[in-house]
Amino acid sequence: MAKAIQLKGRVLIHFDITAETGLHIGGTESGIEIGGVDKTVIRDPLTQRPYIPGSSLRGKMRSLLEKYKGLKQNQRIGQGYIHSCDDPTAYPNCDVCNIFGVPGERGFSTPTRLIVRDVFMSDESAKQLENADTDLPFTEVKTEVSIDRVTSAANPRQMERVPAGTRFDNAELVYSIYEGDGCDARKDVARLKVLVEGLQLLLDDYLGGLGSRGSGKIGISNIKVEWRGKDYAAQAQVLGSFNTVAEFAQNLAEIQNTVLSQLN
Ligand SMILES: [Zn+2]
Repeated sequence: MAKAIQLKGRVLIHFDITAETGLHIGGTESGIEIGGVDKTVIRDPLTQRPYIPGSSLRGKMRSLLEKYKGLKQNQRIGQGYIHSCDDPTAYPNCDVCNIFGVPGERGFSTPTRLIVRDVFMSDESAKQLENADTDLPFTEVKTEVSIDRVTSAANPRQMERVPAGTRFDNAELVYSIYEGDGCDARKDVARLKVLVEGLQLLLDDYLGGLGSRGSGKIGISNIKVEWRGKDYAAQAQVLGSFNTVAEFAQNLAEIQNTVLSQLN
């Protein structure tokens, strides 16, 4: 049967990210050691600057929300399991699957609501790191020593990290509101709360690898929330600017009311 789903508008959430501790988001394991480093970070091939892939932000928020909501981990992805609704009657009320999508396309799934863009290092941080003469371009190398519990042999490994204090500018979350054929625009607006919960969970957790050993604490600041609705070509309407996720959360009900008032 043909589906008719209408895009009612999009909420655009922009913010800056600061690495509050060293940040390690792994690059592809090429098997080639770079400067003697075992674990390298992902870099923009054009500028060589490390960046935060949207998929890392998105994947971490999803996994934290799945645990927060106690969702069944039923679909194997690589080494681990994630949650993915396989029951068409449960799906319409599953915030995580509606926001982040259902891997491996199910017949009953509606469009994924959330797009997360890659986040790039600020020019100011890049300049500072260039001047700081870091171990590798824009990064520090940290030696981690693990002890083999059987042989007691020390096993040092070189980890590349983006230094604490580095800023990544203008992260962007694009959240779509849909109506029709399994989509309920009012529910999508209500789900903005889940998105904000995901950001707050992320602040208390870590991004990238080596989190239990101190890496990956991030800060979120300079939050700007906008709405693009009926007249999609017009300039986006600013819904609010906030310094912290907590402040964003405090003002969320008002933002939701404004969006609801623009749906018809
Ligand atoms: Zn689900």
